Amino acid sequence: MNETDCLFCKILAGSAAADVIYQDNRCVVIRDINPQAPTHLLVVPREHMESLDDASPKDESLLGHLLRISARVAYEHGLSESGGYRAVINTGSGAGQSVLHLHVHVLGGREMTWPPG
Ligand code: 5GP
Ligand code: ZN
Repeated sequence: MNETDCLFCKILAGSAAADVIYQDNRCVVIRDINPQAPTHLLVVPREHMESLDDASPKDESLLGHLLRISARVAYEHGLSESGGYRAVINTGSGAGQSVLHLHVHVLGGREMTWPPG
């Protein structure tokens, strides 16, 4: 999938709608359209990258930023205090990745089980 066909690139460009709850020069955080927990956010880098498999050493700072922003928005939504949250990066179709633009899921507001399904 290239950037022209990418749903998250369209959201980032403003040509597809989304509920944006945070943004900076490197990423945008949106609410998942099909939430799997009371709070389900997606931390999406502005730069198109299909998956974690495509990250190179030059992306290490960006990856760290995505995790730090995951913690920040989790805190701002009360997840850190109310039992915690889960940050997930599905990588590949067998792991459940359906949108081929790297993103971190931030899920919270309910008990989480382990192992994940
Ligand atoms: P993945 O399955 O790739 O790990 O995660 C993709 C996520 O994007 C899914 O949780 C799915 O519900 C969400 N999603 C799919 N289409 C849209 C959309 O149009 N808007 C928003 N906000 N989320 C979407
Ligand atoms: Zn994209």
